[in-house]
Amino acid sequence: MKYFQQDIECASREKIEAIQNEKIVKQVKHAYDNIPYYRSLMDQKGVKPEDIKGIKDIYKLPFLSKYDLREQYPDGLLAVDKKDVVRIHSTSGTTGKRVIAYYTENDLDLWADCTARAIVAAGGSKEDVVQIAYGYGLFTGGMGLHDGARKVGCMTLPMSSGNTERQIQFMHDLKSTILCCTPSYAAYLGEALKESGLTTKDINLKAGIFGAEPWTESMRKDIEKSLGIKAYDIFGLTELSGPGVSYECEEQAGMHINEDHFYAEIINPETGEVLGDGEKGELVLTSLDKEAFPLIRYRTRDICILNKEKCKCGRSFIRMAKPMGRSDDMLIIRGVNVFPSQIETVLLEQGYTPNYLIEIDRVNNTDTFDIYVELTSEQFSDTIKDVSLKEKELSNALKTMLGINPKTHLVAPKTIARSEGKAVRVNDKRKLID
Ligand code: AMP
Ligand code: ZN
Repeated sequence: MKYFQQDIECASREKIEAIQNEKIVKQVKHAYDNIPYYRSLMDQKGVKPEDIKGIKDIYKLPFLSKYDLREQYPDGLLAVDKKDVVRIHSTSGTTGKRVIAYYTENDLDLWADCTARAIVAAGGSKEDVVQIAYGYGLFTGGMGLHDGARKVGCMTLPMSSGNTERQIQFMHDLKSTILCCTPSYAAYLGEALKESGLTTKDINLKAGIFGAEPWTESMRKDIEKSLGIKAYDIFGLTELSGPGVSYECEEQAGMHINEDHFYAEIINPETGEVLGDGEKGELVLTSLDKEAFPLIRYRTRDICILNKEKCKCGRSFIRMAKPMGRSDDMLIIRGVNVFPSQIETVLLEQGYTPNYLIEIDRVNNTDTFDIYVELTSEQFSDTIKDVSLKEKELSNALKTMLGINPKTHLVAPKTIARSEGKAVRVNDKRKLID
């Protein structure tokens, strides 16, 4: 079993285009008829559903971004009756309002096809034991891979993330063959395996499917060695469904985009101009058949390159390179999206000034996350006695907003360097691309 759905994964270009042509016409009409906000965006641009006769007309349509999602929070972009929604997932927004994505039964079914394709591309079949150590819950990683593994017929271990000792124990005792989690956690599990006194010979892992955050080729080599596996990349975002928008094959040379469900464009992030084949720019994705949350021309903010060359694996889907950065200020720390604006919101709510510095590093493949917050002179004299208590309170408030726990440091007035130009709020010392 090399392909999950060979007829489509290896389809001719003509067939893929025919599918896209048919789906985009339907999708635009669906969004226009059912989302008043989207209708007004199209009206403002002077474009009607009838103007979209095929995928080549997509450039006529407006872009959507996290801004629109925030404007329409929580359900202004929902395109079906709520009774037809069977699940939601959620990820960080730019401030306090999170992004909520909705799914019908059919949406979940098609998304599971996407992750099933990724599992089979990584060598998975009914014979496999898939250990899912992505978080379950609002995050798309756990349930996204879970539904795909179930479709392939694998024995699925819904471990969720954390509880590392138990992960190693189950990996050993239940003979897991495929591990799915963030690359940082995979690296951590590699170290934990060694610390537990086991070697790669004592376990049965053969492959891993890792994504949700940037990781380098050297990190891939580390993980492959420490767990004795072949490590595959997987990409996706909550707004478009979750992991499985694209997936790597055995060639490990870019991720195949599931083009029957997603249409990809690369644009100049400054001007919005669509760029030509092989050019580097911002990835824009259109969901061609999502019913509940049909985002069209969604600006992912991921900087990327598309590759249309035929792949040796036999799949005809185009490939995207690993994302090479962002065209906004979003950080991904321990697999969680963090916006500096979220941190600022909390600081102001808690009565601090917005003079702060975020410092991130990757030590032993795990992200460190420190926030330095400057006190005013009054706060400084009031706080000095109970700094650690105040730091703890602020860390808790930040954890509630961000979903991860930063180490907070309250520092004396005027200790954070002032910049002469734009304020420098982030010092990211990690090496995220090769
Ligand atoms: P979320 O919706 O919270 O899962 O976050 C989606 C974002 O995570 C994407 O827009 C990317 O910036 C990032 N991301 C997801 N998968 C990968 C990957 N394989 N490599 C690099 N970044 C990724
Ligand atoms: Zn391939």
